[in-house]
Amino acid sequence: MIIDCHVHVNWYEHEDRPALPHRLGELRREMQLNRVSHAVILTSFKDLPGRPSTKEVADAVRGQPEFSVVAGIGAATFTPEVLEALRPLVAERIVRGLKLYPGYEPYYPHDPKLTPVFRFAAEHGLPVMIHTGDTFSAKGKLKYAHPLEVDEVAVDHPDVSIIICHLGNPWFQDTMEVVYKNENVYTDISGLVLGDFSDRFERYMRDQLQEMIIYGMEPTKVLFGTDWPISSMRSYLEFIEELNIPTAELEKIMFQNAARLFDIPVNSSGAGASGLLGWLGRKMGPA
Ligand SMILES: [Zn+2]
Repeated sequence: MIIDCHVHVNWYEHEDRPALPHRLGELRREMQLNRVSHAVILTSFKDLPGRPSTKEVADAVRGQPEFSVVAGIGAATFTPEVLEALRPLVAERIVRGLKLYPGYEPYYPHDPKLTPVFRFAAEHGLPVMIHTGDTFSAKGKLKYAHPLEVDEVAVDHPDVSIIICHLGNPWFQDTMEVVYKNENVYTDISGLVLGDFSDRFERYMRDQLQEMIIYGMEPTKVLFGTDWPISSMRSYLEFIEELNIPTAELEKIMFQNAARLFDIPVNSSGAGASGLLGWLGRKMGPA
């Protein structure tokens, strides 16, 4: 079983055009091609036709157990009513987490204005995902997206699981320290490369990641995610294959940690070594 804990259904090239159901169809195809059995869809911090709202995405995936939704929270537009509107979707177990986008918006994750977000997360047992590191858009402001800024909310909200997205790219060591120090902090490996891991920067990234995943961090703290459609699922899976991570650790990274944090049901036929080894067997078969 593979859980991709970080995908989007935004249409970045056409923000003025409705993204659903076009993107959902593409996502389904990408998952089938790559044997990904569950995708956690992260909604945006802003509502545009090309960036469907949490409610729109929840309505589109209702009754489809291969999808979960993590609700993007905009800081500039934040009011407690935003959280109130999520209650029924959380009760339905469609929304399984919250996402903040510091850097894309100019605020720190520990901005007191966002304290109700962490209280809500604690009340409902939802993990909070936090964008860190490089921003896809050059208009982002990086100081707000430094992984060290996550330490403060991790300490102040020990009852909330927090996921540092993108390994804090490129502040990997800072991410390692915040993850190591705080029992409630995890990290996902999504969005590190656009396309394939092939050019110079991507080779550098591969070496860094290999060191971190093999030697630098507990496998219980790392989650597989791609940032599709910005990154491709295939290049991520090929990359993971090349790391030669022992099966027991790989299972944690590929689905067990995410299943536990997001409370995603793991169906027994797809779970465990057989499902994962089946997927690993792909490289021995025809391309
Ligand atoms: Zn993302």
